[in-house]
Amino acid sequence: MSEPVPYLDLRAQLKPLRAEIDAAIARTLDNCSFCLGPDVVQFEKDFATFCGAKYALGFNSGTSALHVAMRLLDVGPGDEVVTTPYTFIATSWAISYCGAKPVYVDIDDETLNLDPKLIEKAITPKTKAVLPVHLYGQPFDVEAVAAVCKQYNLPFVEDAAQAHGSKYKGKCVGTFGAISCFSFYPAKNLGACGEGGALVTNDTAFAARAKSLREHGSTVRYHHDEVGYNYRLEGIQGAVLGVKLKHLERWTRERQHVAARYAELLANTPLQLPTVTNGNESAWHLYTVRSPLRDELKKYLDSNGIGNAVHYPMPLHLQKVYAHLGYKAGDFPVAEKAAREVLSLPMFPALTDVQIRRVAEVVKEFFRR
Ligand SMILES: *Cc1c(COP(=O)(O)O)cnc(C)c1O
Repeated sequence: MSEPVPYLDLRAQLKPLRAEIDAAIARTLDNCSFCLGPDVVQFEKDFATFCGAKYALGFNSGTSALHVAMRLLDVGPGDEVVTTPYTFIATSWAISYCGAKPVYVDIDDETLNLDPKLIEKAITPKTKAVLPVHLYGQPFDVEAVAAVCKQYNLPFVEDAAQAHGSKYKGKCVGTFGAISCFSFYPAKNLGACGEGGALVTNDTAFAARAKSLREHGSTVRYHHDEVGYNYRLEGIQGAVLGVKLKHLERWTRERQHVAARYAELLANTPLQLPTVTNGNESAWHLYTVRSPLRDELKKYLDSNGIGNAVHYPMPLHLQKVYAHLGYKAGDFPVAEKAAREVLSLPMFPALTDVQIRRVAEVVKEFFRR
């Protein structure tokens, strides 16, 4: 019996960094800056530099960064935001938290990202913004989204929660929209030892207001200008993220290597493999294949100890929470088909070649049967 291959191995990633991370946490315990503080400020500078953006602000989650991004664009009750039905629910929460309405358009069958050709038809006088996602790390078609947004004078926000270091035409994602949001949830490409997120922008006024919204709507303590939140990044997480950021480029190269190996080894199977659109670079948050036999394949991988996951089994327009929006099955056929076919294989930087070959072998066995 071969060794099982985990879907994700955070322990393997943490082990070689353990001494550095222990020291970073000890520094926070010494300086007692537990909420924001010097380590967060340093990390914000470093992460802004990494992205090639002017400002990065630490948040206590990607979800809260997205929420504040919507607030910065004054999205409120009665407004609409055009977005993708095929993503993690938090993308839509940002809109709902503001009392606004997510307006979905279907996705592109190749990239599974929001199809920019469908945006125009969804725009109404109530539309306040467009919110696409760089799903699995694959950059969405930034130029096409930017073109339609420009035509209608609408801002767009990048949900880059899965795309730290993904590049669109050579430039890091997170620098194209009015605002971009990242998540540092532990399983993300850059993960905290707990929760975390960032809001990235080149706009000085947005950055100043985001800082205030993250801290109870105040710039001067105990003076509150608007309804704000407690969305601060913890000092310990800033310290940990500062350590891990130094390794991110290498980890991304390792993920790209894993993806390239899968592409070689799985080329002659009936699976539909993920591709990266012309001239772009994915940070390969996930390696997600497609098959009409997904459910059977999943069972086979499970019973052979190969970790796997479905991202995502139900598009957002069919979720119970959004029943009041009035969508029905059949509204977004591309997203609905993807939900039936996708399966994410083990993907993390420390994945060994033995493990990659084992995954490919089990997949091939399944199709040989
Ligand atoms: C993880 C994720 C989020 C939310 O980030 P959290 O840090 O978990 O709040 C938002 N959007 C997408 C696409 C994500 O994958």
